[in-house]
Amino acid sequence: MECMRTINEPVEFSGSLGSKLFTNGATLRRLWTEGKWVEGPVWRPSEQCLLWSDIPNNRIMRWHATDGVRVWRKPSDFSNGNTLDHEGRLVTCEHGSRSVTRTELDGTRTTLASHYKGKRLNSPNDVVVKSDGSIWFTDPPYGILSNYEGYKANSELGANYVFRLDPGTRHLEVVADEFVKPNGLAFSPDERTLYISDTGRSHDPDGPHHVRAFDLVEGRSLTGGRVLAEIEPGVSDGFCVDVSGHIFTSAGDGVQVLTPEGTLIAKVRVPEIVSNCCFGGPHRDRLFITATTSLYAIQLATTGM
Ligand code: MG
Repeated sequence: MECMRTINEPVEFSGSLGSKLFTNGATLRRLWTEGKWVEGPVWRPSEQCLLWSDIPNNRIMRWHATDGVRVWRKPSDFSNGNTLDHEGRLVTCEHGSRSVTRTELDGTRTTLASHYKGKRLNSPNDVVVKSDGSIWFTDPPYGILSNYEGYKANSELGANYVFRLDPGTRHLEVVADEFVKPNGLAFSPDERTLYISDTGRSHDPDGPHHVRAFDLVEGRSLTGGRVLAEIEPGVSDGFCVDVSGHIFTSAGDGVQVLTPEGTLIAKVRVPEIVSNCCFGGPHRDRLFITATTSLYAIQLATTGM
């Protein structure tokens, strides 16, 4: 049985466009609340379950509609972002090991990337897999700034890059180098655009708090990088894109929904600071939200890619 508490906050819309994305009278539900700082939600269709990281508690949690919530992996090497590759294998950013790993179908873990030009990565944060199998991830220093979400250490790279990893050759390439703290990322449905957030404001009140839009060149490098939207309040830690290209992003007051042009059209107020969200459920029409200590969900009238 689904253990939940309904949060009586109506979804706010600007115009009629936003209201089309949610079922009539959709309400936010809290499914679980025993985390410290939860992040990296990913839906696993093979098991009809959600996995997410509880970073300071050094564990990955699992939610299933009838089984409830249990610890899925502990220790998790202070895992953060998670995604699936096209074979359904879990790809994970780990602060503790300062690497990106893949969990094979037999449960063993393979390190996909840990160094760039002989230097350790900072602390991979969020990750997406493109249709060609390439793995794109951000590498800000959050996991090495203190012992809270990893292990305190100096940055060997001295920069916060966005990388593209070729899973065949394991070749790692810098695709963007002008971020203060690159964080969430997601492709548009046609994969012509890669959205990347900068959460520099987290440690500097004057730092960036926006989502940028890059154009892909030959599917493997980036150009442009216009600021699509300034997120207010808070930052866009993580986000996901629906089939029509709407961006569901974390913000200081909940989940904000942007058009592909960056216009804010809806807001789901969440009583805790949101870190990330993803689509899930049997029809991929439920938005799962990780927010500080809790996991929330809300029914949508749209679906994830
Ligand atoms: Mg993040």
